[in-house]
Amino acid sequence: MSRIKKLDPSLVNKIAAGEVIERPASVVKELIENSIDAGARRIDVALEEGGAKLIRVTDDGCGIPADDMPMAVAAHATSKIYSVDDLFHIRSLGFRGEALASIAAVSHLRICSRPAEQFEAYEIIAAEGQVPPPKACAAPLGTTIEVRNLFYNVPARRKFLRQAPTEVSHATEQLARLSLAHPDIAFTLSHNGRPARNLPATPDRRTRIADFYGAELARCLLTTARQERELGIEALFAPPDQSRASAKWQYLFLNGRYIVDRRVGYAVREAFRGLVEHDRYPVVFVFLTAEPDQFDVNVHPTKIEVRWRDAGLVQSQVLAVLRETLLSYDLTPALRAPAGGGEGLSIEASSHQQRARQALADYLKAIDPTQARLRFQPPPFETRAVRPSIVSTMDRRPAMREPFPEPPRAESVPTTPQPVGTGPGSPAATPAERFAGSDVRTEIPSFEGRDELRGSVIQVHNTYLVAQTDEGIIIVDQHALHERILYEKFREQLLAGPLESQRLLIPETLEVSPQQAQAAEQHRELLGRLGIDLSVFGPKALAVQAFPALLPDVEISTFVADLLDKLAEGEETQSEEAHLHEALDMMACKAAVKAGDPLSTEEMQALLAQRHLVQKSSSCPHGRPTTLQLSTRDLEKQFKRV
Ligand code: ADP
Ligand code: MG
Repeated sequence: MSRIKKLDPSLVNKIAAGEVIERPASVVKELIENSIDAGARRIDVALEEGGAKLIRVTDDGCGIPADDMPMAVAAHATSKIYSVDDLFHIRSLGFRGEALASIAAVSHLRICSRPAEQFEAYEIIAAEGQVPPPKACAAPLGTTIEVRNLFYNVPARRKFLRQAPTEVSHATEQLARLSLAHPDIAFTLSHNGRPARNLPATPDRRTRIADFYGAELARCLLTTARQERELGIEALFAPPDQSRASAKWQYLFLNGRYIVDRRVGYAVREAFRGLVEHDRYPVVFVFLTAEPDQFDVNVHPTKIEVRWRDAGLVQSQVLAVLRETLLSYDLTPALRAPAGGGEGLSIEASSHQQRARQALADYLKAIDPTQARLRFQPPPFETRAVRPSIVSTMDRRPAMREPFPEPPRAESVPTTPQPVGTGPGSPAATPAERFAGSDVRTEIPSFEGRDELRGSVIQVHNTYLVAQTDEGIIIVDQHALHERILYEKFREQLLAGPLESQRLLIPETLEVSPQQAQAAEQHRELLGRLGIDLSVFGPKALAVQAFPALLPDVEISTFVADLLDKLAEGEETQSEEAHLHEALDMMACKAAVKAGDPLSTEEMQALLAQRHLVQKSSSCPHGRPTTLQLSTRDLEKQFKRV
């Protein structure tokens, strides 16, 4: 071993800089934070060559007095805290006194500043660890900081810098985070002299979001704001059908600082459970405010994580507020007409919506033209002007509604064969029996008389049901809707006690992995509530002794294996409640009618009659929509009636 020696201060600074300054975007973040802490109303950021050549941040904040300038670039020097006690009352973004020292250690740094009480501006230029005394220069009120040749003396880091556009996009992301948290400050960003972003100050978060992500997304955001004991929660989020394939669109802020938090992330996921598909991420912006003594921000060099005093409470409060807000909205995705009124229906739609739309188009094409005219005949001109909707036509012609007309009989309309082999005991249960099993008919004989649905129901592609409502047309995904109804029913039954279980005459065995075996052991009670009884059958196998009676047609060993996988997956993060939901999801999915199952008229009516049970969220447990609606107004727009 060599002798122990004290490190040279410039090397210490370089090592420290490595923690805070990773790339130009880190410099941008630190400098903007300083400007915000200085009370700036306007902050301009200029980059050259992706920031590798130059990063300049100019603000109109309080400035740095000339006497303090050398101290500003000294390590562990700050004007923001003075004592340990202050550490727990931090209201500024910075407090570690490290940023400028770190930046000075790995670049050529120039600071030029003029506080209001100073007659002249002063500048210092720091390089190679030397800081000559400040010199007078010409500059307006505020501070300009220039960082040139980043990592000129750390070749390993310099080599890792990416192409300019990549570095600019990282810097832009930092700007997004800071500017979303501070919409009342104006920001600009330019690259190589060309303007890249212009963000005027605004009192409205939505406007700032629109600046970054477009007016369309900003417009559809739902909002909520609540003060929950020590925690202020403000959230803007897009409806579930606007979810994305990446979690990048989830922003969390605490007291104006962008943070990443596992518990809040979990709360967001839980709030949207059943409303977005499992591999999609809702777009959310959550702004939390809390007294500084409720959390510790001094746990990460870039302050991106905090340690909460009561993380569980924060998680549950965020979850409750989001979930409550979500459920208070009607989330049925609407098929919207294109803004320009072009051909056909078009929006940035998920493939699911596109399929449904295609089914509707096929259906409309398939209708016998004479029938179509009869059914969709517009009212005379003068009445149309008074109440322009299809419903009004139907209202004036009650003969059309009673009895409900059969679906149009044009050749190309898919036929709906009557199910055969009825009787609950028959081995291959038909969809009719499944509905009978969930006692659809005894609850509501048909939807006749329920005033929201009118006219006949039509099945297209043995997958979608098309029906008329007071407002227009709905298109229902039969599997998604049935699944959702069953989910609610199973849940209700569970509240009353364990699900009905059937002993198997011959237990079914399955091979399991160590994780699956452990999940079976650990969740024995939960499985019992679901009506599943497992026993150990050799070192690597389990035997299913009893299985839920509600799932007569399900491949037992596959279902159990899948369920154990699911239970093993979210082991640490998920609560027992979340596991139970997941299991119910799976059961509902397996028991529901499938896409491609033909349904009789009675079955369709019976299924739709139960829509009200699940109308609140209008998505299946997997988060796909169950129902799309097309209003008469949209139809009229499409057919250029208005
Ligand atoms: P910290 O922000 O943690 O205090 P920094 O190294 O980022 O540490 O900054 C050191 C000090 O320099 C700050 O405490 C502040 O007093 C001063 N300072 C830095 N940037 C600015 C600015 N743009 N306007 C006014 N003062 C500034
Ligand atoms: Mg700072």
